[in-house]
Amino acid sequence: MSVLITNIGELFTSDPEGPPTMEAAALVVDGATVAWTGAAADAPPADERVDVGGRAVLPGFVDSHSHLVFAGDRAQEFAARMAGTPYAAGGIRTTVAATRAATDEQLTGHVARLVEEMRRQGTTTVEIKSGYGLTVHDEARSLAVARQFTEETTYLGAHVVPEGDPQEYVDLVTGAMLDAASPHARWIDVFCERGAFDADQARTILRAGAAAGLRGRLHANQLTYGEGVQLAADLGLVAVDHCTYLADADVAALRDSGTIATLLPGVEFSTRQPYPDARRLLDSGVDVALASDCNPGSCFTSSMPLCIALAVREMGMTPAEAVHAATYVGARALDRDDVGALVPGRRADLVVLDAPSHVHLAYRPGVPIVTATWVGGRPHVRATAV
Ligand SMILES: [Zn+2]
Repeated sequence: MSVLITNIGELFTSDPEGPPTMEAAALVVDGATVAWTGAAADAPPADERVDVGGRAVLPGFVDSHSHLVFAGDRAQEFAARMAGTPYAAGGIRTTVAATRAATDEQLTGHVARLVEEMRRQGTTTVEIKSGYGLTVHDEARSLAVARQFTEETTYLGAHVVPEGDPQEYVDLVTGAMLDAASPHARWIDVFCERGAFDADQARTILRAGAAAGLRGRLHANQLTYGEGVQLAADLGLVAVDHCTYLADADVAALRDSGTIATLLPGVEFSTRQPYPDARRLLDSGVDVALASDCNPGSCFTSSMPLCIALAVREMGMTPAEAVHAATYVGARALDRDDVGALVPGRRADLVVLDAPSHVHLAYRPGVPIVTATWVGGRPHVRATAV
């Protein structure tokens, strides 16, 4: 079945090869796929017709970094941080205890609620990490839960070093835990940071993951300068995430390797840290993606529109650059060429804004202007069971 979506005030295509935006546009969906885009006046006939009344239509957001499989609440830690206690990586342990105590059904229900929250804010593809289990059993079941919601699952056994000998834990992460996790995961990630894992440990873990068929990603340079970004570039990873503290050599390494810098401004907002300098990266020729990092500790927002607004207000991006980073580059950060842009052949995942242009995502921060989200050629209907 085909659907003509017409009377689009602004179609933001995120197409790097064609016009990034079109006015007075239309789009034809055939099944789950975009079949045609162009001027509304030239649109071909279709089985159904949807008039969006001059609203803007954008690709669905691709959130390439989230930690949705967890239990418990850290609102008090947030309140304490806002009262002056600095953020440290060790707070993860409180979520680990709650996650281990939760049933599979509780974890699944929690992820379902958060994914539904994301859908309502325009996210159509989401990556979900493990990392709050940190035992063979709890990492494997966290990934099995995540797999019910997305193909983009990431094994993050190396999230924090639990009590005990760090080297023994690296052996576990690269051994029995990897064996249990890898059937449920596409990616492997390491929190490479002071207080978590150093660059040598991260290299060892990513190599073991690669041998098990998992693609590598990294959390790096969030809290201070370090070797993580250089490691990501050396290994030719598709993306390295956070990139808040970058030396000139880090920026040059990202540019030369083509590794995408995924910036997570909700974290800086929620921890009162300095924001990463997106302008510096873009002006240096580094590709920048935006993602939520939705997690219970350092950033409990699921909102890509908030991330776009922060990127514009705080990180020197234009609204068009920020939307491109939250769609097309986010898809590339997951090595996906079937989502992230509204061009023929890609999946018909799209957002309708109750606004005439994408600029309103930053111009009207905090206002719920996502009025419809389409996933695979169909409008998403709010799930009532979650
Ligand atoms: Zn993260």
